Amino acid sequence: MKNIKAILFIICLVPAGLCFSQTKDSLTVAAIIKEATENSQLENIANELFNGIGPRLVGTPKMQQAHDWAVAKYDSWGIAAHNEKWGEWRGWERGITHIDMVAPWVKTLEGTQLAWSPSTGGKTITAELIIIPDLPDSMAFQKWLPNVKGKFVMRSMLQPTGRPDYNWTEFATKESFDKMKKDRDEKTEAWRKRLANTKLTAKQLAQALENAGAVGIVGSNWSAGFGVDKIFDASTTRIPTVDIALEDYGLLYRLLESGKNPKISVRADSKELGMMPTFNTIAEIKGTEKPDEYVMLSAHFDSWDGATGATDNGTGTITMMEAMRILKKIYPNPKRTILVGHWGSEEEGLNGSRAFVEDHADMMPKIQALFNQDNGTGRVVTIGGAGYLHSYDYIGRWLARVPANYKQALETKFPGSPSGGGSDNASFNAAGVPAFSLSSNSWLYGSYTWHTNRDTYDKIVFDDVRNNAILTAILVYMACEDPAKAPNDKIVLPANPRTGEPGKWPEQRSPTRKGGVN
Ligand SMILES: [Zn+2]
Repeated sequence: MKNIKAILFIICLVPAGLCFSQTKDSLTVAAIIKEATENSQLENIANELFNGIGPRLVGTPKMQQAHDWAVAKYDSWGIAAHNEKWGEWRGWERGITHIDMVAPWVKTLEGTQLAWSPSTGGKTITAELIIIPDLPDSMAFQKWLPNVKGKFVMRSMLQPTGRPDYNWTEFATKESFDKMKKDRDEKTEAWRKRLANTKLTAKQLAQALENAGAVGIVGSNWSAGFGVDKIFDASTTRIPTVDIALEDYGLLYRLLESGKNPKISVRADSKELGMMPTFNTIAEIKGTEKPDEYVMLSAHFDSWDGATGATDNGTGTITMMEAMRILKKIYPNPKRTILVGHWGSEEEGLNGSRAFVEDHADMMPKIQALFNQDNGTGRVVTIGGAGYLHSYDYIGRWLARVPANYKQALETKFPGSPSGGGSDNASFNAAGVPAFSLSSNSWLYGSYTWHTNRDTYDKIVFDDVRNNAILTAILVYMACEDPAKAPNDKIVLPANPRTGEPGKWPEQRSPTRKGGVN
């Protein structure tokens, strides 16, 4: 700060006040960019977190390890941080999953246990497979059910193609693409009906198969791209549920349908750990002039565990950590207090952030602004006003200080509308906090990385993440420096076009404080 003032003294003779704040802003912005560009820690922290620790499923030891790592990392940057307990979750630890086809020929298959799936009890289970058949009604299904005894049950449809649509668009004739889509639509609808005829939900179906003596459930939750499956949680309580990649699932399915009677061996070594405490990691740089007013950075810390959660929400996480590191170095004495929330259990229903909002109710009116990022590795291309009447004024003012290079293709939408869910900014919007989503361009997030087995370090586009860390740091700096408290007046929401009812602001909801138990 001393240096900046000295420089200002030389270049700012008149008109002093205005010149001081503008020049101070541009010097700080320039210093933020320099630090982010020349001393970036993004690659290092990404490697430590995604490769060194790995996935961050709530209730697992890895989640706890990640929280402890984050506190230690902030500590090494001189930033006060702590883990704040908000609940508990069913504890589980992923182990080795090994799946092989052992007849009619041998092939090691690409697949994995779903989250919280039971293990195979230290054994390898070898058995034949059976496909859920096309039956007219639930009575017929109940009659068929004993057939699953001693078998792995295949519960997903056979995909007619393993090529994503963009690949067909590029190379197929239009006739052939149309034919494939029609065929796929019909098969998808027929499969939906086949499952509906059982009159059971997906969860009830899994449990019915388990109770009827199936040895495991095999699915394939293809994510419409090359090599990608979405890996969610199991509904079984005693037998393993595994996902198998489209190619291998198709192989088993076609062999079974053509009477070749394939057999698979499955070994899954997960562990149940009882109930585990769950946390948010909170770090702060104390404000000097208005320490009781807050500017918040926000990103959920947990992930699904089919891969390492590198873009959901690893990239949001490292963006906020890097912005904090830079701010501490360049702007160590902010006017308002800077807080970052690394939320636990967003994936199971925004639980960490909902708990924070509930546990710190008196803080909510004192939050100047919150910036959340949670849709992948891309450059931020949209910022909306979240339904706050005056958002245009202050976000516009703050964004004006961001050099053009760091807001390329950025669109703003004012006054926008409050988020009803989807990510943690919604928890704060519900409490009337000016909380904004920094929304990224796609990089095919929805199909390739979101909740998939391919959400890994190599998918990170570091230049884009660097861009976002710079953008976030500047917005936070500007929000801290703003002489005025950002007003949180809400717009009158438009009426529901279908019912004509007046639009309603989303309501605050309580988190699940004891999760993963029935
Ligand atoms: Zn996410």
